[in-house]
Amino acid sequence: MRAKLSIAIVGAGMGGLAVAATLRRFGMEAHVYEQAPRVARIGAGIQMMPNSMQVLRRIGIEQRLRRVSFAPYSHLNRVWDTGEVTHELPMPEGLYGAPYLCMHRAELHDALLSALPAEVIHLGKKLVGLDQRGGGVVLAFADASTVRADAVIGADGVHSVVRDIIVGPDAPLHKGRIAYRAVFASALMSGRDIGPSRTKWWGVDRHIVTYYTSSERSEVYFVTSVPEPAEWLTRESWSAKGDVNELRAAYDGFHPDVRAVLEACPDCHKWAILEREPLARWSDGRVVLLGDACHPMTPYMAQGAATAIEDAAVLARCLDEVSGEDIEGAFRRYEAHRKPRTSLIQAISSANTWMKEGNADTAWLYGYNAWNAALDEAAAHTGGPA
Ligand SMILES: Cc1cc2nc3c(=O)[nH]c(=O)nc-3n(C[C@H](O)[C@H](O)[C@H](O)COP(=O)(O)OP(=O)(O)OC[C@H]3O[C@@H](n4cnc5c(N)ncnc54)[C@H](O)[C@@H]3O)c2cc1C
Repeated sequence: MRAKLSIAIVGAGMGGLAVAATLRRFGMEAHVYEQAPRVARIGAGIQMMPNSMQVLRRIGIEQRLRRVSFAPYSHLNRVWDTGEVTHELPMPEGLYGAPYLCMHRAELHDALLSALPAEVIHLGKKLVGLDQRGGGVVLAFADASTVRADAVIGADGVHSVVRDIIVGPDAPLHKGRIAYRAVFASALMSGRDIGPSRTKWWGVDRHIVTYYTSSERSEVYFVTSVPEPAEWLTRESWSAKGDVNELRAAYDGFHPDVRAVLEACPDCHKWAILEREPLARWSDGRVVLLGDACHPMTPYMAQGAATAIEDAAVLARCLDEVSGEDIEGAFRRYEAHRKPRTSLIQAISSANTWMKEGNADTAWLYGYNAWNAALDEAAAHTGGPA
C-alpha cells in the first residue's frame, strides 16, 4: 500500500481551506500554512453562486451556510439614477441545482475551518522559500522553521510568494479603481428595506452592489467600484479605512435607495481592485497555484472565491486519479481543464459587462459542477461574454 500523499498548502483563505477539505475527502494528508498569527473577522460580504455551492455541498458545509445566509431572489440590475431595471435573473434553486447565497465572509471562512481538524492549520507561518529536491518540496518560513511535503499548493492570494518563486515576480494590474465596502446593522436603515435581491446599480463610470448578508436580513452590505486617481495600493487593504464622506460624494445623484444605504453606513473600508492577465503556467514540478494566486480577477462577477473553490475540487480529483504517482502530470491536467474557464471569467470580469443587460447565457458559469466535469476537456466556457 502506498503512503498517504502529503500536501502543504500555503494560505488559509477561501481557496486554501477549500482545497485542504477536498484533498482530505480523497484521503490525502493536507496541512495549511498561513502567515497571519490569528484568523481575523473581515467586515465584508461574499456571494456564493451555485457553481461554488456544489463544491461546498460535498465538503459538507451547505446546511450550515444555508442557516446563516441570505438567499437572494434574483440578480437585479438597475440604472444608477432612475432605478430602471435593465436585466433581472431570478435564481431559484432548481435552476442550477444548488442555492445562491449571500453571507458574511467570516461565516464562510468559519464554515470551511469547521470542515478541518484544528491541528492541520498552522498560523504565523509566512512562507519565504521553496526547494524542490529528492521527489519532494521543502518549505521555509520566516520563523526559520522548515517542513517537507510531497507537493505544495500556493493558495496565497494575489500577492502570491509561491507564484513569484515558480513563475517569476511581477506586479498585479491596478487599473485605477477601488472598492469601498461595509457591512452594517440593518437597524441603522430606519426600517427601509433594500429588497429581496442582490442589486447592482450601474452608473456611467462606477457601480454599487447591495445585499443582505444574513438569513434574518439583520446586516446590509455594499461594495462599490469607483475611479481612484491616486495610485493607492496596500497589501493589507482588507483593513484599510475609507472616508465615508468621500464615498457618499462619489455617489451623489444616485437613486434614493442607494443614497439611503450610504447615509446609514457608519464607516467603510477600501480595497484596491487588482487583476492579472492569465499566467503562462500554473505549476512547476511539484508546486502548483490555485485561486487568486494564479487567476486574480476584478470582483465584478463575484467569481474570485467561487473559482478558487472550483479549483479545489478539480485539483483534488486530478491528484486522486494519479494515486500519488504522476503528480506533475496531475497538475498539468488540472491547469489544462481549468485555465480556459478562469481566463474567460477574468476577461469578462475585467470588462465589467456581466448581466448588465440582455438575456445572456449564464448556464456555462453557474451550471458548472467541478465534481463531475470531464477532466480531459477544457472546463465549460461556452456561451461567450455577457
Ligand atoms: C471587494 C471584493 C468583493 C469580492 N466579492 C466576491 C464575491 O462576492 N464572491 C466571490 O466568489 N469572490 C469575491 N471576491 C474575490 C475573492 O475575495 C477572492 O477571489 C478570494 O478571496 C481569493 O481567495 P484565495 O484563497 O485565492 O486568496 P486569499 O483570500 O487572498 O487568501 C490568501 C491567503 O494566503 C495568505 N498568505 C499570503 N502570503 C502568504 C505567505 N507568504 N505565507 C503564508 N500565507 C500567506 C494570506 O494571509 C491569506 O490568508 C471579492 C473580492 C473583492 C476585492
